[in-house]
Amino acid sequence: MFKSLRKFGNLFFVSIYILLLSSCATIDQGHQPVYQQSANSQEIAKASEVPQIAEAAQEERDDIYMLLAYAIVLKDWQTDSSDPARGHNIGSILVDGAGKVVFWARNANKITGNGTQHGEVRLIRNYLTNVKTYDLKDHVVYTTLEPCAMCSGMMVMTNIKRTVYGQTDPDFGKALERLCWDSHTLPNGFQPYPRCVKSETSKNIIRQRLDQAYGKYQQSGGKGITKWLLSAEAKEIYQNALKMFLNYQVKYPENIPILERAREYHDKVPSEYVPLTD
Ligand SMILES: [Zn+2]
Repeated sequence: MFKSLRKFGNLFFVSIYILLLSSCATIDQGHQPVYQQSANSQEIAKASEVPQIAEAAQEERDDIYMLLAYAIVLKDWQTDSSDPARGHNIGSILVDGAGKVVFWARNANKITGNGTQHGEVRLIRNYLTNVKTYDLKDHVVYTTLEPCAMCSGMMVMTNIKRTVYGQTDPDFGKALERLCWDSHTLPNGFQPYPRCVKSETSKNIIRQRLDQAYGKYQQSGGKGITKWLLSAEAKEIYQNALKMFLNYQVKYPENIPILERAREYHDKVPSEYVPLTD
């Protein structure tokens, strides 16, 4: 008797939980893409906790956001002869806890004459200035190139949940991993830095193509990932990323609105340099 009552009770709570999840998903579908400079604290307040989704569906979501980041870089593709030169072919987007893209930025080192103007720095600094907050817990950064030490430090200090990168940087990468590394048992070792930000390689085929192509360039004596990113070969891979983004077919129905909003967001991102507010 008690067993069947307990069973009924469990079923009841599971049903309530499913109902709650589906209502969260409905709220999430109501979000519209936010244009770069229009993010404000009210919109942030509206953002609900992200409904738990299956790992495979999350991977697909990561794929969509990664392709969006590549597509945003391609929109203002730089070559050796770009005049004025904005900066490197690197960019990133910020996604909040509800799965909404809330900001984008591209590298602007050259046009600003400021070597700290990496995509992720501009992304985080300007977003925080707009929304007047300093904690980005639950937020994910999707960046086209593995973050450097400067950008990783900023991610740690603003409490970013995780980052996904679309190309490995053999020279300046693995900064977040080094901050997370616990070496205190070794002579002169350290505890890991507080707040470990998870850094993940994108599983998208474009990331593999970029890594392979840059690996070959290095083997043939080429030096410098930002220089290689100016090449016709790099552009062709980015153009394939855009095609993939525009023709993407989702396997998981819960990602249909994610893809639709990512495409709407892409349409609104301008192709020229935009001075930011910070
Ligand atoms: Zn950086």
